[in-house]
Amino acid sequence: MQKRIEKVREILKDKNLDGIFIYKPQNRKYFSGFTGTTGYVLITQDEAKFFTDFRYMEQAKEECSGYDIVEISRFEPLTNKIQELPLNRLGVEEEYYTFKDFTQFKSKLEKLEIIALEGALTEVRAIKSSDEIKYIEKAASIADEAFTYILEIIKPGVTEKEIALELEFFMRKKGASGGSFSFIVASGVRSSLPHGVASDKIIQENDMVTLDYGCIYEGYCSDMTRTIVVGKANDKQKEIYSIVLEAQIKALESVKPGITGKALDEIARTIITDKGYGECFGHGLGHGLGLEVHELPHVNYIGDAPIEAGMILTIEPGIYVPGFGGVRIEDLVLVTDTDYKVLSKTPKELIEIKI
Ligand code: ZN
Ligand code: ZN
Repeated sequence: MQKRIEKVREILKDKNLDGIFIYKPQNRKYFSGFTGTTGYVLITQDEAKFFTDFRYMEQAKEECSGYDIVEISRFEPLTNKIQELPLNRLGVEEEYYTFKDFTQFKSKLEKLEIIALEGALTEVRAIKSSDEIKYIEKAASIADEAFTYILEIIKPGVTEKEIALELEFFMRKKGASGGSFSFIVASGVRSSLPHGVASDKIIQENDMVTLDYGCIYEGYCSDMTRTIVVGKANDKQKEIYSIVLEAQIKALESVKPGITGKALDEIARTIITDKGYGECFGHGLGHGLGLEVHELPHVNYIGDAPIEAGMILTIEPGIYVPGFGGVRIEDLVLVTDTDYKVLSKTPKELIEIKI
């Protein structure tokens, strides 16, 4: 953990801060090791403090090596404990820091300047350690196993919600702590909804079904998408599927250190646009993933930064035709020193479920 504390101290220096306050759960876990639900990290140039209440004291002592563990009352403002520290410029996670926190800090620490960290902590998390890679690989392999299982369940008559529940139940039995987001099970015309969360709709013959799901293992997420057809695919379904597959494979095979997320997005988008479906691919190509299901790097038109070895990203182009349906194919990919390693092992040829 000491290395990660030092990373925070580099940010302190860069931004000329006296302290950095962390409590977004994923950053807190990353920088302190704490897996509980209540705790606050404060790192200064000389100190690393972890504040928590009685319920988590023992756990924090076990998990947060390198930290001075400070007990706070559950209902006492944290500012009572930190007002004696010489803090003038405090960095906070602006996306997580609330107006209530701001008011409390300002009332106790009048001269305190609150500075937005602008994602500096999240940037550190973009490159994964070997342990993190191991956990994400495991989360991906549980999702792969779940796909084989779910093919036996999908048939006319079951609802999208039943499929989502079976996926989650299966993955939890295999050791996942839960789903990594609200699963998308979008069938028939609903498959043209890129984020069509599982509904009461009943699966019917000839439906295309898009399954976008993942699980959490040791705090780390997986994320994959496959689209299948219930019964025999028609020509239009086959056409769209083969275009998305070609775009997915070409973008995937271009992953290597140095390429930007924007360039990867363009590779897939050009293929889809050339085939006349550019308007039907309205989202970015992918995203980074780790403790959160969406994190850095950007794998879309704003991804100007070069991709680096050790990053894990998704490649997930799609075509969505309103009133007809849609196809998305998504794999998890680890960027290696030379190119890439695909972590999602589920095959990508179009599956037609026999009925
Ligand atoms: Zn997904
Ligand atoms: Zn995704």
